[in-house]
Amino acid sequence: MYPKAFQKLIKNLASLPSVGPKMAERLVLFLFKQDIEKIRDFAENLLEIKNMKICKRCFNIAESELCEYCKDERRDQHSICVVEEPLDIISLERTKAYIGLYHVLGGVIQVGDSGAELKIPQLISRIENEKITEVILATNPTTEGDATALYLKRKLQAIKTTPVKSGEASLPTAEFNGVKITRLGRGLSTGADLEYADELTLSEALTNRKELL
Ligand SMILES: [Zn+2]
Repeated sequence: MYPKAFQKLIKNLASLPSVGPKMAERLVLFLFKQDIEKIRDFAENLLEIKNMKICKRCFNIAESELCEYCKDERRDQHSICVVEEPLDIISLERTKAYIGLYHVLGGVIQVGDSGAELKIPQLISRIENEKITEVILATNPTTEGDATALYLKRKLQAIKTTPVKSGEASLPTAEFNGVKITRLGRGLSTGADLEYADELTLSEALTNRKELL
């Protein structure tokens, strides 16, 4: 039987994704052999992640109210790349092929789920209020990712053609007319996550993005 401190840490580690009880035991024994400075640094870094915030504009991970991309005025303020999770932004940034803004949905629409918790209303509000000319749907090329992109396309097109309240009811509003909706190009392996795509493939997928009509 392990000492209590070991047992507690094994339980903590075994609760992490992809870490089974055997691996947790090995990790605890490994950590036990490290010197105190290394362990202290590890523990402090672990606490530090809870000081991180969520960007109030795009829902990426942020160190303050806005994330580094939203804060950076040199970025193209007219395009939004819509992703599932903050990790996807890291992958897209590595390609250096995109210099616009982002929007993190926080997941995808699953079968039998309306996706009410996704940041879709906030995306729509951004498109309505910021001078956006292109929305790139960069959800993963999985069944759910594709379905979510399709759902978003319909939603966004509905805004594009929302009639003006007074006046010419049948005409689309001028300010949304110019929003182009695109999807990452082919080449990304179907069913895979952006997170695992190599930089060149992802960079090409961005360059070859196609307008969703
Ligand atoms: Zn942001």
